[in-house]
Amino acid sequence: MPNAVTGDAARRFEEACEHAEISPDTRERLTRAKSSLEVAVPLRRDDGTLEVFSGYRVRFDDTRGPAKGGIRFQPDVDLEEVTTLAFWMTFKTALLDLPFGGGKGGVAVDPKQLSASELERLSRAYIAAIADVIGPETDVPAPDVATDAMVMGWMAHEFATIRRGHQPAALTGKPIALGGIPGRSSATSDGAFHVLEELRESVLGDLDEPRVAIQGFGNAGAQLATLLADGGYRVVAVSDSSAAVHDPEGLDVAALRAHKDEAGSLEEPPSGEAFDPAELLALDVDVLAPSALEGAVHGDNAGDVRARVVLEVANGPVTADADAILDEQGVEVVPDILVNAGGVTVSWFEWMQNRQGGRWTAGTVAERLEERMLTETRAVVEIARERELKLRSAAYVHALERLTAAMDATGTVALFSGR
Ligand code: NAD
Repeated sequence: MPNAVTGDAARRFEEACEHAEISPDTRERLTRAKSSLEVAVPLRRDDGTLEVFSGYRVRFDDTRGPAKGGIRFQPDVDLEEVTTLAFWMTFKTALLDLPFGGGKGGVAVDPKQLSASELERLSRAYIAAIADVIGPETDVPAPDVATDAMVMGWMAHEFATIRRGHQPAALTGKPIALGGIPGRSSATSDGAFHVLEELRESVLGDLDEPRVAIQGFGNAGAQLATLLADGGYRVVAVSDSSAAVHDPEGLDVAALRAHKDEAGSLEEPPSGEAFDPAELLALDVDVLAPSALEGAVHGDNAGDVRARVVLEVANGPVTADADAILDEQGVEVVPDILVNAGGVTVSWFEWMQNRQGGRWTAGTVAERLEERMLTETRAVVEIARERELKLRSAAYVHALERLTAAMDATGTVALFSGR
């Protein structure tokens, strides 16, 4: 079934259902996306030829509010991946108690093969193709892998043209000049840092300068590296898709970020030793932060992990098979739906700002983000302690109980379950 949740996501959902107080109807409802759209995205190339790409937008569930979730441009994106990501967004927004459901979108394209003007035309063509299903009160897209504020700006402009009026709350992660909010681009790493700091004592004890390895040196990973290096951790290794760099004494993160910005990769780093990116996961560190793509830690390499804590900054970087192995090794996995929820939380602030027609300050954003991250981290820890669960299951249970409360409140579940 093309809109069904499959694989690891389904496995974790079933497991969480065993520990959550939910109605059978909610359980059944959450096995399938509410709607899935597959579109053709035509692009006029700079040489005059026309190429058509596949695009997707999935609204997984919108019981708690408009669907919310990013758009990724990546060659192997397909409906199954977008459905899984929209499913996770449903849980993430519920976990953070945001008034949203879950959605996700994507185009199967390699953006590195496009010129800047081709990227702009593709972004506009995609939003035109899905314009009927998005809007401030229905489904609110945002950036994800390989899409950024500039792309969101083009999309917001195209959407205003199609709708013949400004609707800034229809997309988040926009440039500040077009109704974006301060702190959106660093929100994911800021949130991840708050979660780690909140858990630090319980998972790392009084360890001085915990050593961290970060896989993925993009928007989330590179900004997290700076926060950690400035916040009492030692960032000893980072990698991107083409290279990795290691220094047991601690990397000069600012110099590496400047190098990556200029050279476009971590190859030939200004300091530290280059090494094989595949070896990063096996380094002797205290915290491993996979911040690139799904499935990085899997059944075949989880046994090599030597970190005490895996901080899931990416979406789905640890497979269910790897979870079991890490658990046996006593590694604490801090789940993605909590760790990387800062981005969607600040997207909520942006949506509110746009609907109010006002402007939020960086200080208000930072303060309210910290409150949301710390409150829900503490709630997850409490559920894990009370019900003797791993943090991942506790996070799912917390989200599931909010989802079932909303579904019951619509009346439908209560009606059919005879309650
Ligand atoms: P990005 O495109 O800015 O960065 C991704 C980084 O990963 C790049 O440095 C890339 O070179 C690197 N990479 C790709 N394949 C790799 C590999 N095999 N080994 C090592 N590095 C590799 O993307 P991003 O926005 O930083 O997102 C990263 C992850 O975080 C994704 O899973 C995304 O869904 C998740 N996430 C991002 C946000 C956000 O606000 N940016 C929010 C929530 C979740």
